[in-house]
Amino acid sequence: MKEPRGYEYTTDLLVIGCGFSGMWAAMRARDFLDDVLVVDKGPRDWGGLGGLSGGDMIVKQPDMNLDDLLDDLVYYYDGLADQRLLSRILTQSYDRFMDFENWGHKFVRNDKGELCFIPQRALDYMRYYYYHPYGMGGIDKARLLKRECEKRGVRRLGRVVITDVITDGDRACGAVGFHAQSGMPVFIRARAVLLATNTGGWKPSYHQNTPAGEGV
Ligand SMILES: Cc1cc2nc3c(=O)[nH]c(=O)nc-3n(C[C@H](O)[C@H](O)[C@H](O)COP(=O)(O)OP(=O)(O)OC[C@H]3O[C@@H](n4cnc5c(N)ncnc54)[C@H](O)[C@@H]3O)c2cc1C
Repeated sequence: MKEPRGYEYTTDLLVIGCGFSGMWAAMRARDFLDDVLVVDKGPRDWGGLGGLSGGDMIVKQPDMNLDDLLDDLVYYYDGLADQRLLSRILTQSYDRFMDFENWGHKFVRNDKGELCFIPQRALDYMRYYYYHPYGMGGIDKARLLKRECEKRGVRRLGRVVITDVITDGDRACGAVGFHAQSGMPVFIRARAVLLATNTGGWKPSYHQNTPAGEGV
């Protein structure tokens, strides 16, 4: 009997990393592409670090000034902050916050219906909006992102360890790796490849944790 060569896939967009970033990117890409494939070396449904996280969310609420929040964040991250990137993230953060609320993820509010938050390092605008039960927000967000990916027909595969991206000149056109349980090689052809493997493991501002994200 002929031994199988490995697993082969073809897709319009290959997203490497099925954490919150990868899932958001895959979902959005499905608005424009017929086929989107997300692979992760972990179990298919673990949701990256987000699934382990508290899920507290930093949000630029409509009544906040972007620069005020940005100043707080630069201080919070000990100056190690890409301000242009952060501005773009914060500008979109309220829409993402509302996406979660519209999907049924309820951030905690007081009796008057006002959002509750946890101020960080006594800063005025650096606030964490949180979920009840506290600490379970990440699991719920991961569940919702997986659900939304499924609804949009995003293909997700777990236990695929990518070892290299294939290039054709300057263009990425696929990736290779192996299946973590069987050891079988995996070959993926793609019109585009997006790396969502994370650059930072945990918050550098916590000092004791290394910022050694696996994506590096
Ligand atoms: C305990 C904890 C609590 C946290 N609490 C909060 C919080 O309350 N609020 C908040 O905003 N943030 C919090 N964070 C941080 C937040 O969870 C992360 O910043 C965020 O989830 C990162 O998402 P990501 O998609 O960029 O990366 P990740 O979730 O790290 O996803 C990257 C994915 O890529 C995969 N991958 C990496 N290399 C490969 C490879 N070679 N082949 C295939 N797959 C690969 C990994 O398995 C992983 O699933 C917390 C983190 C932790 C650990």
